[in-house]
Amino acid sequence: MTLREEFPEVLRCYQCMSCTLGCPMAQEMDLLPHEVMGAVQLGRDEEVLGSSTPWVCASCEACATRCPNEIEIVQLMDAIRRRAVQQGMASEREPELHRVFLKEIERRGRVHELSLLLELKRRTGLFKISVDELKLGLKMLLKGKLKVFPGVKRGGEELKRLFARRESP
Ligand code: SF4
Ligand code: SF4
Repeated sequence: MTLREEFPEVLRCYQCMSCTLGCPMAQEMDLLPHEVMGAVQLGRDEEVLGSSTPWVCASCEACATRCPNEIEIVQLMDAIRRRAVQQGMASEREPELHRVFLKEIERRGRVHELSLLLELKRRTGLFKISVDELKLGLKMLLKGKLKVFPGVKRGGEELKRLFARRESP
């Protein structure tokens, strides 16, 4: 099944670019949101599945809110991420934030931002921390925006059940 068959509403897209103009992550994407729509309309699934766009998308819904045709762009991005992983088309690095995020939830019941950042740096081989990142991190620590210690885990049993359900076929 192609993405267009799964999301036939993409055919309503008339390339007005409202989604792209409202997207806070557009400058980081290799395919802009309206270009993703165009590629899906034309059945160019491979191009979309190999793109960095779904991994950069912050699921903020700004695009869907602006779309005059009420296209569920965020759901489409989710489907692209899922397929890219299932079909081995996502690069190793791009889904890493999602994996680390889930691992954090599974371990602690919440995300400890400092652990998430350090683990992400370790896994992606980007363990060089720039001076600007250090400065920002220190500023956030001093303002209490980053916590040094993760705190107590909550909802352990519920989480165990949720993750077991997620892993079962
Ligand atoms: S949901 Fe994704 S594509 Fe849409 S505006 Fe937000 S970041 Fe951009
Ligand atoms: S806002 Fe909607 S109609 Fe306009 S380009 Fe984006 S998806 Fe297409």
